[in-house]
Amino acid sequence: MSGDIGTTLTSAWTSILDLVAKVVSPDWNALILLIPLVVAPLLLLYLAVSGGLWTRFWVAKPRPKVRWEEGAHPMELDAGGAPVPPVGLPFSFRAGLVYPPDTVRTDDGEDLAVVCPMCGVERAAQLPNCGNCGLVLTVRRGLAVARPSGPPPGGAAIA
Ligand SMILES: [Zn+2]
Repeated sequence: MSGDIGTTLTSAWTSILDLVAKVVSPDWNALILLIPLVVAPLLLLYLAVSGGLWTRFWVAKPRPKVRWEEGAHPMELDAGGAPVPPVGLPFSFRAGLVYPPDTVRTDDGEDLAVVCPMCGVERAAQLPNCGNCGLVLTVRRGLAVARPSGPPPGGAAIA
């Protein structure tokens, strides 16, 4: 009876020691062969998540809203209801409309006016240069590119 218990305890102790030995000094060759099985799913998961996030960002990223101006639109009004001429765009006070860039006449032949963006002086839209400051106003499809036609009064050293 006591020998049976001693044998059982000895075999239990031996199995505990075997278990501890596996934890303390594992079979490194077998574990090294298992590394790809652990790394590959993690790599695939990373690629899937990052690819999905980039795709979602590309689909939902904030984009500027571009609206090309087609045709004439009404002139803005100030607080008193008087029309405010736009700067750098041809307009007609008589029609109360602002026209697209490069328009010099209304449909019924009225000459349009434009306000110089640099000095604020109004001139005919047919004139490319400002008579006051010499600014050459080139406006294309809602994008205004303004450059002076030459050095400012006083020479190029001031510029
Ligand atoms: Zn000017």
